[in-house]
Amino acid sequence: MSKPVIVQKFGGSSVANIERIKAVAKRVLETKTPKNDVVVVVSALGDTTDELEAMAYQISKNPSEREMDMLMSTGEQISCSLLAMAIKALGHDAISLTGAQVGIRTDQSHTKARIERISEKRMRKALLENKIVIVAGYQGITHDNEITTLGRGGSDLTAVALALTLKAKVCEIFTDVKGIYTTDPRIVKEARKLKTITFSEMLEMASLGAQVMQARSIEVAKRFNIPIHVRSSFSKEEGTMIVKSNEKLEETSVRGVTCNKKESKVTICSVPDRPGVAAQIFNDISKASVSVDTIVQNVSHTRHTDISFTVARSDLSKAIKAAETIAKKIKAGQVLYDRDVARVSIIGSGMRSHLGIAATMFKALAEKKINIEMISTSEISISCIIKEQVAEQAVRVLHKKFNLDKVNQQPR
Ligand code: ADP
Ligand code: ASP
Ligand code: MG
Repeated sequence: MSKPVIVQKFGGSSVANIERIKAVAKRVLETKTPKNDVVVVVSALGDTTDELEAMAYQISKNPSEREMDMLMSTGEQISCSLLAMAIKALGHDAISLTGAQVGIRTDQSHTKARIERISEKRMRKALLENKIVIVAGYQGITHDNEITTLGRGGSDLTAVALALTLKAKVCEIFTDVKGIYTTDPRIVKEARKLKTITFSEMLEMASLGAQVMQARSIEVAKRFNIPIHVRSSFSKEEGTMIVKSNEKLEETSVRGVTCNKKESKVTICSVPDRPGVAAQIFNDISKASVSVDTIVQNVSHTRHTDISFTVARSDLSKAIKAAETIAKKIKAGQVLYDRDVARVSIIGSGMRSHLGIAATMFKALAEKKINIEMISTSEISISCIIKEQVAEQAVRVLHKKFNLDKVNQQPR
């Protein structure tokens, strides 16, 4: 009979060095009881993945994505084997497994592969032998036995997917902060930890730049209602539960502020104003494998209009190249760009029913003379594109304006 499983994921900072790996081993053993099993997912040590990436770019400006996956997946293989050794050194049996060894099958899109299915077999066998199973996060294998990775931050996705496969009681995400905060505590020291947050809010926060959880992992957790507990690997304190819905949903409008500093803006000037042009532009941009975020098209008075859009900064050169080719093709004007813009957003499920929030946000930025270049909204968020150099100031201003630092205003 299989026992209930707890999935625990430890991020890069939690396994940054040997001392921390030993501390993680202790923590895992505290969770393993005769009544439940533990499956652990680890990220690469500290900044290993960034360092591996930097090495690749020292060799080639445009390394092959297959080779990148071969390289980037090695980081997690180091941490999972070391953690298995650390657990064994404490007297409990453990086994480390790569994504391939577990049987995490993905599609073939290297560097951002999608999980297609996961086999329970190897993990269940090890658990039945009373072993703690340590899985290398962030990676899988295609049907052709090619190693793939699941996009940056992908160990979160491995953990959630394993929790789903093993019908885990809970998926615990251990990181270097005590939970999900009203904003990045590294930017605002008054940021407050939330007791709970809904899947929708977390998904919005993650997609809009809160690095603490990978957005794709929250999509899966939301779809299958997998309880997630985000907490600190350096303290025993309860963290934040990510849940389906909050009982007191209507009490607050804005629950968090996020900032994504890795965006750029591209403008195609004097685009002929006729039906089909936007379709043509964005079709060609997507063919260049650039995904576009916010789009703004100015009002046309002269049968020509400027179209601006934002892209991930890492895609800027591809985007400019594609935009210049299209501009020529459709007889538009020049292509301008601003490399250093940022997206600052406010998020909250209660925003649906609160009036005047957008106005309050814009006024708060205006009072600090922060110019808004683009605006986009969803049902539960409002984002402004601004200059990167004032992004952190904007986060602090908005956090204060919406009273996110106040205990009595602090929901749940
Ligand atoms: P790990 O290595 O554990 O995966 P990450 O570096 O990916 O950790 O994510 C944790 C970091 O996310 C924190 O150190 C914090 O600076 C940042 N962060 C950004 N927004 C938030 C937020 N709203 N709440 C908590 N942490 C946040
Ligand atoms: N090591 C990978 C990264 O840095 C995966 C992860 O940490 O979740 O993106
Ligand atoms: Mg992470």
